[in-house]
Amino acid sequence: MTKIGFIGLGTMGGPMALNIIKGGHQVRGFDINQTSLKSHLENGGINASSPSEAAEDCEFLFTMLPNSQHVKEAIFEKNGAIESLKKGSIVIDMSTIHPFETDEIREKLKDHGVSMIDCPIGRTSVEARLGKSLLMLGGEQGDIIKATPILNLIGDTLKDCGGPGMGSRMKIVNNYMTTVLNVLSGEALTLARSVGLNQTKCIDVLSGTAAVKSHLTTTYPTKVLKNDVSPAFMVELALKDLGIAVNLGDKVNVPLELGKASVSTYESAIEEGRGKQDWTSVFLNLQNRAGLSLPKNIKE
Ligand code: NAD
Repeated sequence: MTKIGFIGLGTMGGPMALNIIKGGHQVRGFDINQTSLKSHLENGGINASSPSEAAEDCEFLFTMLPNSQHVKEAIFEKNGAIESLKKGSIVIDMSTIHPFETDEIREKLKDHGVSMIDCPIGRTSVEARLGKSLLMLGGEQGDIIKATPILNLIGDTLKDCGGPGMGSRMKIVNNYMTTVLNVLSGEALTLARSVGLNQTKCIDVLSGTAAVKSHLTTTYPTKVLKNDVSPAFMVELALKDLGIAVNLGDKVNVPLELGKASVSTYESAIEEGRGKQDWTSVFLNLQNRAGLSLPKNIKE
């Protein structure tokens, strides 16, 4: 039986703590919400009256809190976990927070001899209840190995993202994509409806094209990331089609904001001489604009 501290027993943290308890471990939990604490007790957990008490004598301290200020408060402020965390223990922060804040928290913990794994969660509370979350891990190899038996109780997909801070970075990249794609899906379906298409039919048809199959897993790995910008579909044609969509949207009173923002990216790629290249070469234009050198395998 391992002694675990757990701060933040809400929608995600509550069921995760329960799954660790079911795995046979002692979970001392803290939350500012009394209802969450009551559920934790009913689930067989032990309640703490402060973050410091939750962290007492624990090998692993989990934090699952709304934002970075809550994590910092729970760890570093008065009665914070840092007052009782023992040297060699590991803080596992599962909250979705700014990666630079993750780095700052890791450094401060290191000063106290405590290590940290950033471990934001992919998937939702449904999978959290089932113990089937996807864990984006950022930490030292040794710490990840030590924590794996416990992490296996809350997730069925553990992804080592490549070192300290990389879990936090991966999560933000993931959520950038998912939050923007959510709006893009909404825009596309609104345009579809406004021009008289049946939405169910629209989802069915788009499911057979790159619209739903995703550039990230289909066109990118076979074209630009393989150093092949020969046109399967040209940047110029992509811009032409995007222009038609934006124009159509304006005519039926659907402002396609994401579409309008994307026009300038295609135009910039054309200005860079990529008009006749494959449409995935916008990636190279974006890398240039970010001041990044091209990935090693890509020669121009
Ligand atoms: P939630 O609001 O349900 O739970 C957060 C809990 O933290 C609450 O019970 C709250 O009382 C407690 N809390 C707040 N400040 C505290 C403090 N200083 N000390 C102790 N407890 C404190 O939120 P959630 O949905 O469980 O999300 C937690 C984190 O996980 C967020 O960063 C969120 O972005 C991320 N996340 C959520 C989901 C999801 O589907 N809900 C999925 C992946 C990641």
